Amino acid sequence: MTPTEAPTAAERRRLRSILRGLRARFGPLEPPRRTDPLEELILTVLSQHTSDANAERAYGALRARYPTWEKVARARTAALADAIRSGGLANTKAPRIQAILREIFRREGRYDLSWTRDAGDERVREYLVSLPGVGPKTAAVVLAFALGRDAIPVDTHVHRVSTRLGLVPPKTSADKADRLLHDLVPAPIRIELHVGLIRLGREICKAGRPRCESCPLNDLCLTAPLYMGRAAP
Ligand code: SF4
Repeated sequence: MTPTEAPTAAERRRLRSILRGLRARFGPLEPPRRTDPLEELILTVLSQHTSDANAERAYGALRARYPTWEKVARARTAALADAIRSGGLANTKAPRIQAILREIFRREGRYDLSWTRDAGDERVREYLVSLPGVGPKTAAVVLAFALGRDAIPVDTHVHRVSTRLGLVPPKTSADKADRLLHDLVPAPIRIELHVGLIRLGREICKAGRPRCESCPLNDLCLTAPLYMGRAAP
């Protein structure tokens, strides 16, 4: 499947089949949360290269120790790193979080992104990726889960599974996959597909050997024949 700005009828049919398979296996594919955009942004930074559970724990510790964003921005960086240690890579994430907060304050005069609720998707995306250390995936998470927009965040699971399925070409970078999937997947199903591909990546299409024999998408997948010894679909 080659992503284009306007998916073909065959591509749309295949995407619908993939979504049906994911729903049949996992049930309703609900987005994980809806929160304040700045909270979601900082939580997403904390979730980089760690599990959701570790990120939530680090976020809870951060808010308990520093109840306001101003206190986070003004904290000693080493102390902030200690507070978020359970989220991993604390010595990288602490200065990144402070740089983001300081830049938001410099631009807005306050620690607040509620203006994004009334702004268009592209304006919000451009603003977020212009913040220090914020990439397309983080921007898409904020758009999808804090603002309820039709974005499809490409995390490590979505990247791996969509490549194996053949939704993006092999060796496509995560940033490029983000744009390709955004163009390929119709807006109304982006969040559901994101949630379903993450479930599939965590439980079945793992980073090592995928469990194709028990995958609900094995009759649609370009990689399954490699593991199941049969012809490609
Ligand atoms: S069939 Fe195998 S490679 Fe394809 S998505 Fe399922 S688990 Fe992954």
